[in-house]
Amino acid sequence: MTEGTNSHGAKSHYEVIVVGAGVAGIYQIKRLADLGIDATVLDSAPDLGGTWYWNRYPGCRFDSESYTYGFSFSKELLNEWHWKERFSSQPENLRYLNYVADKFDLRKYMQFNRNVEAMQFDETRDEWRLKISDGRELTSRFVVLAIGLLSAPTLPRLEGMDDFGGRSFHTYYWPHEPVELTGKKVAVIGTGATAIQIIGEIADKVSELTVFQRRPNWSAPLNNSRISEAEMADIRARYDEIFAACKVSPGGFEHAPDRRGFYEVTREERLKLWDRLYDEPGFGIWLANFREIFMDEAANAEFSEYIANRIRRRVKDPQTAETLIPRDHGFGVQRVPLETNYLEAYNRDNVHLVDISKTPIERVTEKGLRTAARDYEFDIIVYATGFDAITGAYDRMDITGIDGEKLYDKWKDAPSTFLGMLTHGFPNLLMPTGPQSASATTNFPRGIENGVNWCTDLLQYMWDRGLTRADPTRESEERWTAHVTKMYEIMLMRKAKGWFTGYNSNVPGHEEGRPRYFVYNGGTPKYVGIINDVAANGYEGLVLSSQARPESGAARSRVSA
Ligand code: NAP
Repeated sequence: MTEGTNSHGAKSHYEVIVVGAGVAGIYQIKRLADLGIDATVLDSAPDLGGTWYWNRYPGCRFDSESYTYGFSFSKELLNEWHWKERFSSQPENLRYLNYVADKFDLRKYMQFNRNVEAMQFDETRDEWRLKISDGRELTSRFVVLAIGLLSAPTLPRLEGMDDFGGRSFHTYYWPHEPVELTGKKVAVIGTGATAIQIIGEIADKVSELTVFQRRPNWSAPLNNSRISEAEMADIRARYDEIFAACKVSPGGFEHAPDRRGFYEVTREERLKLWDRLYDEPGFGIWLANFREIFMDEAANAEFSEYIANRIRRRVKDPQTAETLIPRDHGFGVQRVPLETNYLEAYNRDNVHLVDISKTPIERVTEKGLRTAARDYEFDIIVYATGFDAITGAYDRMDITGIDGEKLYDKWKDAPSTFLGMLTHGFPNLLMPTGPQSASATTNFPRGIENGVNWCTDLLQYMWDRGLTRADPTRESEERWTAHVTKMYEIMLMRKAKGWFTGYNSNVPGHEEGRPRYFVYNGGTPKYVGIINDVAANGYEGLVLSSQARPESGAARSRVSA
């Protein structure tokens, strides 16, 4: 048996191939295993966990409350697992996912170190033909892409990156063995959510930390804490209530927007709310705020100034504080990084902030970095430079649909999908958390469970009727894409230069000026209402057919007992 292959890996045909063994892939294979479907999971990583397998940088942790992040499908699991912290850290999150996979015996369906390099739809057989990095070719009637939204990391395009004599890595590829930071001179490039977590964590461990900031980001305190046995017992007793609250909140969190109108209350009342939310754990400051913050320039500006004043209070050097205050976008129009000791890090003598909007990085040198102003020497350079978000992981696979159309070409300017889960001309390709779905803008696992359940119900519907092909119509896809685009029109988010609008200076074609409206902003309840209606109406908007020969149809989909 080759490395990473189990007995399950000896086959060449499956009814369903799931790509990705992260949170979505784990839940998808659980649903398929429960139905007795012949399915496997392929992942390019050496083990399961997806985002929690790869991101091992110091400070990496949830920004969702742990107990709203975990899977909700098993009461037994909910009763067994003890979340140790309100916002659990990466090692614990990876332990959790392994625990789930082992508990439900899911590992036997998984094949690791298996990168899907290319896949092509065979129109005569209604099945996908996949080229795997181990040289094998596999076929499957359905492919579920559970490949994540932030799984294609991007590096700056800087001259001399290979010349650096020290260690350098993108945060996504933080080494698995411990990295010695004590006494080291470290550079962090970027000030997104990832950098903000690292900086707060390592500032007091390294000898010198220099942060290279191009554009500042708004952030708010995480306010993390331990969860005692007694608190966990209380959470367990309230799980039904907690998940019910997540279902009706737009973001899929416990935090629900303040229903009062921003202008209906006095400024004193607004300040009272903000003072309370700033000191509370998690995304309340963003999601339990007035709804106008997301849509009304003046409301957003008033609140942004409130947060700016918090920065001025926490950062001692006035010039540094001003450099850390964003001017090009208001609070909350991009996903808000939650921090621990981030702003206080800049009060330390060993932490330095370099504003590279004024003195750009010119190149990487053998010893460090050269900006327009001077040379810096480092032992370690950390690239916290983000991802080719949402579509990047799709673009890195060579996916060919009907009539030889490439998905990359179809989505070159912007993705178009039906419900964020299927795309016309690429039949039987399911994306439970695809571009234009609600997942990116919500508490991710809550979105995952919605998407996986919907996709699994569609598969079940087809198997029950002997159907072999599902393809959305061009018209239904155009309607959905227009709806997704329209939702941006009312949100200030449309103006942000962040990954919600597909901005990434490191990816050709994704630079400023070409917004890609590719997340659904209508919120969880609305999204779930729409996708459930589509299912209740016999999958209106999809053409379901059975063109394949009967022997390759549903009859052979069940695993023999
Ligand atoms: P990001 O938000 O896209 O931030 C990337 C940072 O790198 C930005 O500050 C960007 O500056 C900078 N950058 C990129 N290319 C650069 C270049 N060539 N030169 C200089 N600076 C450059 O990426 P991220 O921080 O990895 O976060 C992405 C998302 O991951 C988050 O929004 C969040 O959804 C998720 N995340 C979640 C958690 C959690 O708490 N669970 C933690 C980390 C990340 P510009 O702004 O100027 O482009």
